[in-house]
Amino acid sequence: MKRTTPLRPAGVPRWERELARSIRSLDALAARFPGFAPTDAMREAARRFPMAITPHVASLIERPDFSDPVFAQFVPGAGELADAPWASADPLAEVPHSPFPHLVRRYPDRALLLATSACAAYCRHCFRKRVSAGRDAAIPDAELRAVARWLRAHPEIDDVLVSGGDPLMLPDARLARLLAALRAVPSVRVIRIATRLPCTLPSRVTPALVRLLRPPRGGPATFVSTQFNHPRELAPAALRACARLVDAGIPVQNQTVLLRGVNDDPATIEALCRTLYHNRIRPYYLFQADLVRGIEHFRTPLATGLAIMRHLRARLSGPAIPNFCVDPPGGGAKIELTPGAVEGRRRGGTLLRGCGGPFFYPDPVPRA
Ligand SMILES: *Cc1c(COP(=O)(O)O)cnc(C)c1O
Repeated sequence: MKRTTPLRPAGVPRWERELARSIRSLDALAARFPGFAPTDAMREAARRFPMAITPHVASLIERPDFSDPVFAQFVPGAGELADAPWASADPLAEVPHSPFPHLVRRYPDRALLLATSACAAYCRHCFRKRVSAGRDAAIPDAELRAVARWLRAHPEIDDVLVSGGDPLMLPDARLARLLAALRAVPSVRVIRIATRLPCTLPSRVTPALVRLLRPPRGGPATFVSTQFNHPRELAPAALRACARLVDAGIPVQNQTVLLRGVNDDPATIEALCRTLYHNRIRPYYLFQADLVRGIEHFRTPLATGLAIMRHLRARLSGPAIPNFCVDPPGGGAKIELTPGAVEGRRRGGTLLRGCGGPFFYPDPVPRA
């Protein structure tokens, strides 16, 4: 019997075909969600910052309006046009901390590589809107070689974060070259890949990708940092993608951005962290939104995050609790915010605030 030709065009992976079917305009979104009508302000926001919604993300939207936590994260909105006086394109001062166009150094022992400016789905709350709104794409091979030389000359850097954009938007061959360049630097002991694709395009996590990411024996440890912001994003396909990574020995940790109207209540963050933890994904950071142009409408008061942290402390196991952090404007290290545990000094001890009310913690008995 004659063999039939495969239905799939050889060489085009499923994730790339899904990417090609993404919604890239408000008119295409209106065609997909009857009942949704774009306004002039939304059209202006879509002109200022790029828009893309993968078929997977579109499938998570239940109501096509801004009360829907997935819709609100990915659909251009009027809020993006209303800037506060302190908003800047680069509040963390990444540009002045860049020895190369695609490398940021804000810490003595860590460096951040911006592998590409492309994403599968563009988050409206992105703190690097300046990158995605630019025309620049992936890091050129010549710059990658220069970065590797620079890392060899800076052996105090043992941890390289690879972000973007989304580094997993690079095709496998290109990603393999990038990883090989970093793994060839003896002083690099950890590589962390920051990606939202397990959430927005879970089909990207193919067995071939997992083989690429799995650290070679003796090579630097490899971690993946995801971004899940709402329990609804922990869809079966997304959890399967993360499980593939964890099964291969790649620890997965999650960074959540605290977003007004999306996840800024204790029950939502608790449900998110609990499900992440059940699925071997470590809740790592809860980020306060930055003072970035175009995201003012997503910001919450610090007290909101602190109240959420107090709630999590009372309800969740230790490994399920993220660190609540804010990035200081100007580019210093992240600042961790904790609900004030110390109420104040009392005679002979300290009054602490606990889940069940304040309690007195006495000083040690003075030694003779
Ligand atoms: C946040 C950040 C880091 C380090 O992140 P940690 O997970 O806290 O180690 C490194 N470089 C840059 C530029 C960062 O913004």
